[in-house]
Amino acid sequence: MDYIIKGKSLTYFKSPPSTSNSELIDTFQDGLGDICRQKILELKTRYDTLNKLSNFHQEFIDLQDDEQDKYYLEVRKATMVDAEKSVVIFWIRYWTTLLRKAEKTYEISSNSITDRDIEEASQKPFLDVFDGELIPRGNRMVGLCSFHEERTPSFTVFVDNNHAKCFGCDWTGDPIDYIQKHYDLSFVDAVRQLL
Ligand SMILES: [Zn+2]
Repeated sequence: MDYIIKGKSLTYFKSPPSTSNSELIDTFQDGLGDICRQKILELKTRYDTLNKLSNFHQEFIDLQDDEQDKYYLEVRKATMVDAEKSVVIFWIRYWTTLLRKAEKTYEISSNSITDRDIEEASQKPFLDVFDGELIPRGNRMVGLCSFHEERTPSFTVFVDNNHAKCFGCDWTGDPIDYIQKHYDLSFVDAVRQLL
């Protein structure tokens, strides 16, 4: 009821934007589902609070209808509670629609890579993947580690199995692990980047 105390009108609550805009989904793709769930939870809590308030006002109106001023004030409050309830319902619908879209997007993105893609991505030569210079040393290559500060190279690529280990910070992994950590990507996005 803060807006009543501060004298704010209901225009303070803006209507939700259109959910047909697919750019919105792309912008928030990562973590959108979690945001939606959080928002729905908050709105449902608010809705429950408003429900309690409108019940209270109804009782008050029934009991105090001989006191004109108080009566009209309570009617006004009850009207505003009802108006806010309908706005809250709008927003719940909005976030629910987004949640459905976000989950669908997530399903599509996780299904869009195959075991073969993963195999292919993991076999991409470190020479093409490593962000920096790799110097051949026998059947190994060494370079300055991407994950810690150093002046002498301890990032070592084992060419035979296309795995790497840093003897400075102990990082180990294949090209997918490297891309994931270096560019802070999800597993799926790292695989896609390597294909
Ligand atoms: Zn390192």
